[in-house]
Amino acid sequence: MSVFFDKVAQRLDKLDAADRRRQFRQLADEIGFFESVFDTLKEGVIVVSPGGDLLYANAAAEALTGCPCSKARGKPIRKTIPGWDWDNLLHPAHEGWNRTSAQELEVLYPEHRILELNAMPSQNGTVVLVRDVTDAHARAESAIESSRTDAVRDLAAGVAHEIGNPLNALSLNLQLLAREFRHEPDEERRERLLQDISTAQNEVKRLEDIIKGFLSALRPAKLNLVRGSLDAPLKDTLAAFKAQFEDRRIQMRLALPSALPSVLIDRAQMEQVFFNLVKNAMEAMKDGGALDIAVAADDRDVRVFFRDNGSGMDAATLSRIFEPYHTTKEEGTGLGLMVCRRIVRAHGGEIDVESKPGAGTTFTVRIPRLEKRVRRLT
Ligand code: ADP
Ligand code: MG
Repeated sequence: MSVFFDKVAQRLDKLDAADRRRQFRQLADEIGFFESVFDTLKEGVIVVSPGGDLLYANAAAEALTGCPCSKARGKPIRKTIPGWDWDNLLHPAHEGWNRTSAQELEVLYPEHRILELNAMPSQNGTVVLVRDVTDAHARAESAIESSRTDAVRDLAAGVAHEIGNPLNALSLNLQLLAREFRHEPDEERRERLLQDISTAQNEVKRLEDIIKGFLSALRPAKLNLVRGSLDAPLKDTLAAFKAQFEDRRIQMRLALPSALPSVLIDRAQMEQVFFNLVKNAMEAMKDGGALDIAVAADDRDVRVFFRDNGSGMDAATLSRIFEPYHTTKEEGTGLGLMVCRRIVRAHGGEIDVESKPGAGTTFTVRIPRLEKRVRRLT
């Protein structure tokens, strides 16, 4: 269409009135043709200008959102389709950084639906694709809840749990052995024995971590939501890492505002999220580095940022990091981020990631403010 348009534009002053009318009609026909093609799509297509105004929305977008988009071209998108997380959909990644910004949203009006939103930024604005995934969701839920998978899951969880007990005993006995060998008079032998025990203890710890991750992936604990602030679990988590930061030459900086709005959180589970994110950041900075952690609130969410200047990720890795068992580490379980995302979403929040290979990664945890709680879905 634009080739045609360019040709007409070049010849515009050479055309007589009748020609212009004809060309104009042809152009209008072509626009009508493309609009009718877009209107046959089941997916909603919404185009937003860099300034945040609605440029175009097809018929499906109007039906799915229940908002009168066709009458609102040129108007601010935030007013036209209120209640969506536009800040995150339209927020551009910095240059060269990969970003994931797929969201799922439960809407109650005009019909109860689950929508998947995918934002693709470009120079001329952002194209947001809207898919109705209500049926796919219902199918996934019923598959998860089917009794057969339940039985297998219970069996696996039972086995994992059983492995936990002998591991505890093993760990206890290793401690006792270590205590005994401290009195060994032969120094060389003592050092060797203590070293062996410490290696065994590390392996036991690793097994315990795997089991813990596996169990929390399999059997999500019920949320015990209590009104509170995000800085308390964050500070506790960081205190537990203090020695490791020093050992690994990681400079951790924490920026906390003086007052934070309240959120509803399960404190133990939120600590697990922060723990996994800090651990990943540390593992991405093998030769030391800087970890910047900041908390900020806007009128909707409280956000916690974890920015490392470690290895970073390419787009292909980034697209898979939340998959269970996907790991790029020899000793990884690939469960950490999956569990993090599940916990954050259970709080009505979301995790966003931006990353650039060689430059670093920023994870952002968003938890809705107490008074703004809406349900976002996994
Ligand atoms: P694991 O840490 O056991 O590998 P996770 O689910 O915690 O499992 O992470 C999955 C993968 O995501 C990691 O193997 C790594 O490739 C990537 N990843 C996560 N956090 C970071 C980070 N801060 N920097 C670079 N890569 C990361
Ligand atoms: Mg991890």
